[in-house]
Amino acid sequence: MTCPAHCCTAESKGEGIAFLTLRDAERVKKATGMKISEFADVFEFEDEEEVERYLKSEHHGDRLFGGLAHELQMLSLKSKKNSATCTFLRKNKMCSIYEARPMICRMFPLWFNRERGKIKFTKHNDGPPKDEACPVLKKNPTSKEVMGLMNVDKKMYELAEQYYQEMKEYETYKHRINENLDKVLKSLPKPKYKKVL
Ligand code: SF4
Repeated sequence: MTCPAHCCTAESKGEGIAFLTLRDAERVKKATGMKISEFADVFEFEDEEEVERYLKSEHHGDRLFGGLAHELQMLSLKSKKNSATCTFLRKNKMCSIYEARPMICRMFPLWFNRERGKIKFTKHNDGPPKDEACPVLKKNPTSKEVMGLMNVDKKMYELAEQYYQEMKEYETYKHRINENLDKVLKSLPKPKYKKVL
């Protein structure tokens, strides 16, 4: 199956590409040697309605994402200059930071809920027209079928748990995403959750 890397491209120029946790930013920085400001951006939602549509609705099948915006802003990957494509997407549609790609890129086209401390995977519901461009989602698979395609194993559950904890951490510090993020990261307490990445 050929992946057209559609989820590495925003619908229009200037849109956020992929949500970054602070730890995503830390990992990408470590892997690339780049400054966080060179690859991270603060994405601005137009209004609360857009926040509702993208983060709080059925868009992700749950409400995990719902609390991540702060004053209509959210940390995301930069797009290339004058383009709607992720700064790390190569011309051949391959990711140049595959081993260090953000959590959301690792999960796609899966998403998950966390109920009573347990991770429950679902398929990512990105809504049309993106579903049509995704060779997996356009076939309208069940969540179980997507889990099969993604070879969901114990490590994937651990990864989702770490991602959940990183989102909670991000939520705590989301009011600081316009500060120097290297300094913000240095000021964070050491994570207590299990790290598999
Ligand atoms: S980091 Fe890689 S996988 Fe994620 S949006 Fe960019 S190119 Fe795609």
